Amino acid sequence: MIADNIKKIQEELPDHVTLVAVTKYHSIEETQAVMDAGVFDLGESKVQDFLKKYEVLGNEPRWHFIGHLQKNKVKYLIGKTFLIHSVDSLKLLDVIDKESKKKEVVTSVLLQLNLAREESKSGFLEEEIKDVLTVIPKYQNIKVQGLMGMGPLSQNNDKIRNIFVELKKIYDRIKEESLSTIIQMDYLSMGMTDDYRIAIDEGSNMIRIGRKIFSS
Ligand SMILES: *Cc1c(COP(=O)(O)O)cnc(C)c1O
Repeated sequence: MIADNIKKIQEELPDHVTLVAVTKYHSIEETQAVMDAGVFDLGESKVQDFLKKYEVLGNEPRWHFIGHLQKNKVKYLIGKTFLIHSVDSLKLLDVIDKESKKKEVVTSVLLQLNLAREESKSGFLEEEIKDVLTVIPKYQNIKVQGLMGMGPLSQNNDKIRNIFVELKKIYDRIKEESLSTIIQMDYLSMGMTDDYRIAIDEGSNMIRIGRKIFSS
């Protein structure tokens, strides 16, 4: 089932869109089945669950951390992730930089934005972005590679689309204005099982799919 589901998703993906299989909640065996189906970008949202899988699967997949990250857990992730999608505060950036220095690595991150201003979600608000971009050049061990966002909890596709359109606008603006090599807009991570088609329409180049891969 997993392989069939992945094949169906991949058939409709344009070449420039990377599929991140969200393996959170799923066993190592199921995660291995995802890799056997040819997907090596895997998303996890809890540090402890990630570490258990990392122990077994190591660096063969590219690990994407997509969940809310507590500062005291950053040290367990550093050096093991391909991309941390969920950077949502300056304090978290501080800690990621500090821990990356200790391990002498540069950590790639996305800034998570909360454009729908939903209290249940974390992420920078639109008016905070400018200040965040100003301080980023001081972090020598962080590379900002793009933005992550979620569609609002809504049945209204127009509302969802509007948020994705806004996110893409901000992404493009930063891409144009950024002169720093520390900020390089490579990835616009938006789109999940219920809204990835809208996200791709509106310019996403990285989707994070969980349920659709594991449904029977
Ligand atoms: C769980 C999760 C996903 C995957 O969601 P599905 O609806 O199962 O596709 C994507 N992104 C984040 C941040 C998540 O927490």
